[in-house]
Amino acid sequence: MTDPRRKILSAPARLTHLESMVSLSGQRTIFPFYHVVSDQHLPHIFHLYGYKNPAEFEKDLDAMLRIFEPLRLEDYLDGVAKNSRRRGMILSFDDGLAECHRVIAPLLKKKGVPAVFFLNNRFIDNRGLFFRYKTSILIDRVMSDPEMAGKAAEFLVIPEKQVVSALKMVDPPRQDLLDPLAAVLGVDFQNYLKNQPVYMTSEQIKDLRSWGFGIGGHGRDHADFSIMNRDEIIRQVRESVEDLRERFGVKTAWFSFPFSSAGVPGPVIRELLEANVAGALFGTAGIKNTGTMRFIQRIPMESVRGTAMEVLKTEYLYYLLKVPLGRNRLRY
Ligand SMILES: [Zn+2]
Repeated sequence: MTDPRRKILSAPARLTHLESMVSLSGQRTIFPFYHVVSDQHLPHIFHLYGYKNPAEFEKDLDAMLRIFEPLRLEDYLDGVAKNSRRRGMILSFDDGLAECHRVIAPLLKKKGVPAVFFLNNRFIDNRGLFFRYKTSILIDRVMSDPEMAGKAAEFLVIPEKQVVSALKMVDPPRQDLLDPLAAVLGVDFQNYLKNQPVYMTSEQIKDLRSWGFGIGGHGRDHADFSIMNRDEIIRQVRESVEDLRERFGVKTAWFSFPFSSAGVPGPVIRELLEANVAGALFGTAGIKNTGTMRFIQRIPMESVRGTAMEVLKTEYLYYLLKVPLGRNRLRY
């Protein structure tokens, strides 16, 4: 039988544990990021990563708020946290999904927590669909109907049992096969977007702005920046943030690299920042010391199942373990 006193004791002990890891690391500001929060089955995301329901997300938030003070990104970049001993947190959400407006923003508003939402310009108003979301929709179709698995196997010329793993491996250069495969499986992505809007509309994004949230670019169509040359990277970052400036009157130029910033050459990162194409750039490599406040690595909160506290403890532990090897740094 569990001693109830142990339960009572272990809670503050666990809390102290993270707090001491934070001070030991010297990384007092965290940048957790999510995509979506929902209690619905979302076929376009379900087969890609686990997402939290509103109750779980609120628990995450409350736990983080007990330790970290929520900050606005602009205040952080202005240096308000620099000389502070306090622990800070800047939340962000990638891909501009409809639930950001319906579920996430209202909850953040209620708690007075600022956040930044990174948007794919061409998908705003559901004018297009990220190929990975297409993949998940097709996997959902195949898994719910054995006849469809057979049809997909025939189309892909592979054994039926390999269909799901083959779909999971579809990469940007092979994404063109998804539309014809969808036609074979009777899936119409246009209809899907109409019946179940995946992304926020322009009006909803204007709401976010009027509620005080920040927005930033995430590339026009979630392309992989690691395979682009210098000119293309700079052009696409510039277009993504300028489009938001024109459509939503955004004065800042924040950009989060789709997938990650890994593979984007250091000199190009430097050039983007120095020429002020971007006011701040974001990756997804977890807690890293990049040597500048304007190149920020964030913590993926949905890549493993677990509470926010579990994810953060693991992140800090990794960071501290890598310090002696110098692998806690991500210079550019
Ligand atoms: Zn993304």
